[in-house]
Amino acid sequence: MTDETSDRTLDAGFFRRWLGVVAADAVEGAADRLTELDSAIGDADHGSNLQRGFRAVTATLEQDAPTSPGAVLILAGRQLISTVGGASGPLYGTLLRRTGKALGDAAEVTPEQFTEALRAGVTAVRQLGGAAPGDKTMIDALEPAVEALEAPAPAGPSFRAAAEAADRGALATVPLRARKGRASYLGERSIGHQDPGATSSALLIAALADTAEAAR
Ligand code: ADP
Ligand code: MG
Repeated sequence: MTDETSDRTLDAGFFRRWLGVVAADAVEGAADRLTELDSAIGDADHGSNLQRGFRAVTATLEQDAPTSPGAVLILAGRQLISTVGGASGPLYGTLLRRTGKALGDAAEVTPEQFTEALRAGVTAVRQLGGAAPGDKTMIDALEPAVEALEAPAPAGPSFRAAAEAADRGALATVPLRARKGRASYLGERSIGHQDPGATSSALLIAALADTAEAAR
């Protein structure tokens, strides 16, 4: 299997599978670990927050089945905002809604267009939460993922390279001191733990790569 994506466009079905099936399954499988990470430097709810959110996303996408990529992302983002308690709900909701808005109402988008839209989404998350890379948040996984997608490559943006970059970014949060969100209240004591949000972001990008590879 390869994730060379330049030769294919992504339709609404692709995005429904990514968020409603593959990412939702990954969140189910990782919920305990995400909550455990959040119990070390937060309030032990990140896994259950996302589980609730992605169950709602799955249900809504099955019911409504939006027919454009943009509409899928906007609807999923809206669900996350209204069902995920905590800081991560509005942040992930903004990520998906802003990315969806940037895609407009095209029935299919190229991986390059998706990359550009995701950049807009990540910028919106940075504006909303005020976090920069190195602050020990989801941005530490999302930013390198978008950068990997933006890197010039003959075969076009590689979702697998993005997933690997996000994973490295999440691992690299361990020695960092949290400067945003609940973990920042711990100051120095946040050092030595992997950030739950960066971990779930890496999971979502890995689900994107898995979805692209399964479609080939
Ligand atoms: P809460 O902290 O409200 O309990 P969650 O546990 O669901 O919410 O999510 C915590 C995660 O949210 C953190 O691990 C971090 O990655 C992310 N996060 C928190 N605040 C911010 C922020 N200002 N900017 C970006 N991400 C943030
Ligand atoms: Mg929490």
